[in-house]
Amino acid sequence: MSVKTSSARTCVHPSRPPLSPSHAVPSRVLDPMTNPLRSLAARITLLVFVATVISSLTASWISMQSLDGFLRQKVDQRFPQLAASVANELDQWYSLRAREIEVFASSAILTESAPRLEQEGRRGEQARNEAEQYLRYVLESFPQFGRLAIATPEGVPLVEVGKARDGIEAEPLPDGFFADKFGADEHTQISDAYRFGGRLVQIASVPMRNAEARTTARLFAVLDFEGISPILQSASLGGSTKIYLVDRSSSFLNPPPGVAPDITFQGDGVEREHASVAYYEDSLGQQVIGTSKPFPRFEWTLVIEQLYEEAFAPIVRAMSRVAWFNLAMVLAVGLIAFRIAGSIVRPLGALSDAAKRLSAGERGVEIDTAETSADEVRLLTETFNDISRGLGRNARELEDNRREIESANQELVAKNTELSNVNLVLEQLSITDGLTKLHNHRYFQEAIAGECKRASRTKDPLCLILIDIDFFKKWNDRLGHAGGDETLRRIAEVLNQSCRETDLLARYGGEEFALLAINTDLEGAAALGEKVRQAVEETNFVTDIPNEREPLTVSIGVAFFAGDRRQLFADADSALYAAKDGGRNQVIVAEPDMDVSPIQPD
Ligand code: GH3
Ligand code: MG
Ligand code: MG
Repeated sequence: MSVKTSSARTCVHPSRPPLSPSHAVPSRVLDPMTNPLRSLAARITLLVFVATVISSLTASWISMQSLDGFLRQKVDQRFPQLAASVANELDQWYSLRAREIEVFASSAILTESAPRLEQEGRRGEQARNEAEQYLRYVLESFPQFGRLAIATPEGVPLVEVGKARDGIEAEPLPDGFFADKFGADEHTQISDAYRFGGRLVQIASVPMRNAEARTTARLFAVLDFEGISPILQSASLGGSTKIYLVDRSSSFLNPPPGVAPDITFQGDGVEREHASVAYYEDSLGQQVIGTSKPFPRFEWTLVIEQLYEEAFAPIVRAMSRVAWFNLAMVLAVGLIAFRIAGSIVRPLGALSDAAKRLSAGERGVEIDTAETSADEVRLLTETFNDISRGLGRNARELEDNRREIESANQELVAKNTELSNVNLVLEQLSITDGLTKLHNHRYFQEAIAGECKRASRTKDPLCLILIDIDFFKKWNDRLGHAGGDETLRRIAEVLNQSCRETDLLARYGGEEFALLAINTDLEGAAALGEKVRQAVEETNFVTDIPNEREPLTVSIGVAFFAGDRRQLFADADSALYAAKDGGRNQVIVAEPDMDVSPIQPD
């Protein structure tokens, strides 16, 4: 996914760093980019990770409990079964031995020779030889028997054969050996085990009877205790399984080499009569599982022990596998969660960046949705793009409108300026006399009103000079109206040149002019009037009559402003009339509150 602008078409990949600082908009919340642990992806991943770990541990604990229970059940079954099986095999083994010596004892050779064994002489010797030969044959054929002997019912040995073992000739049995063990019992017997010649042995004994069923002798067989070893060794639960036989005096008959006889089993009070399973610590401090079973034939007890960890090794193996599986699952689920969270958060990050750029004023920001899966985030992204495009259109319309308004404003300003100029011209025209270009009557009236007010306020002197052309009717008549107009323009120029900038000159009527002498006293105004009169008088106004020059003069009335504007006009007018009456071409000054007085030319 990428962010792009339609105008500049810039693209930003979501995995890129955020916007440049110029586009960055201050965020009120902590930016997740500055603190990855607070990012949405990290929080989702952590949640999934914790949830997976908890569920895995729970499942492991439950399965471990189940497995433990199952194994205990198995152990409870297997140990007694094995003990029963071993006891059964041992019993069979001893039964077989007993049966074998009974067969030997009832053999024809022994039966026939038995009555003569105690006899002296050749017959007795022959009988003993025959018996010895037979017994040797039996010893060679039946390796379970270590010694064979025939003795009197009282235990006096008559014939005795022994097996060479480990290269050493069998040592002779001590006197009274058989009598001590069995006495005159009439049945086949197998004795308890006891030490003889450094070995553990048992003595089997069977009575030998004559034709009258009277016991004439007994056949004795020494059974090597090692004979039952194959049974004890073959019956195993595997590994560290130990099978012990304990005699009635609690002595171990077969302590394994290197292992001290262990009496812990008894010490823990496990009932020897009933095969049961116990969990206890052996003499080496190891946790073991054990069971016991009585072996009534010799009042022995069969004990089977196995190391606890070995018996429950399947749990350890299973837990190890479960732990690895859980670890792999947690990692896999965490990774998947991280990728899913990333696939959500990355587009959101791109959206956030794009929104910041949009809010910073950038237009045409668009996010590429090509690589986004069709989900809610894509819908959101497309909606954002629609909004962005809409904003872009609005911005362009606004810009167009702004340009139009600006252009309209410029036109308006130009028109306003033009209008102002026209107004200025019009205003100028409205206060200007069209013929002479001097101020017109209306303007003069307004101006003199203002000047009178100002003079009243400042007490500055102010005078009014009225100028009227003498006999202009005649001039007009002679030159025509156009000629008269031209003369009026010329006189206006002469008047204008005769006064100062500060003086206000206007065409007051047809061929009358008014001059307002500002800040000028009556004497100065009179001098100004005289100056004007002389200037006109000295100007040659060409007539339409060739070589004829007609002098043109003006009569002037001067008045001082004494506070009353009407009076000022009246005085100036009176003075002008006085000048006309006085012969024209003269200046008359209206004295305050006095009659007008003519000014004599220099
Ligand atoms: P006086 O003032 O000396 O008594 O004699 P006048 O002939 O000048 O008499 P008055 O001032 O009464 O005459 C004014 C004459 O000025 C009347 C008219 O023919 C002439 N006149 C007024 N306005 C104009 C104008 O605009 N153009 C021309 N050509 N003549 C004008
Ligand atoms: Mg006049
Ligand atoms: Mg006149």
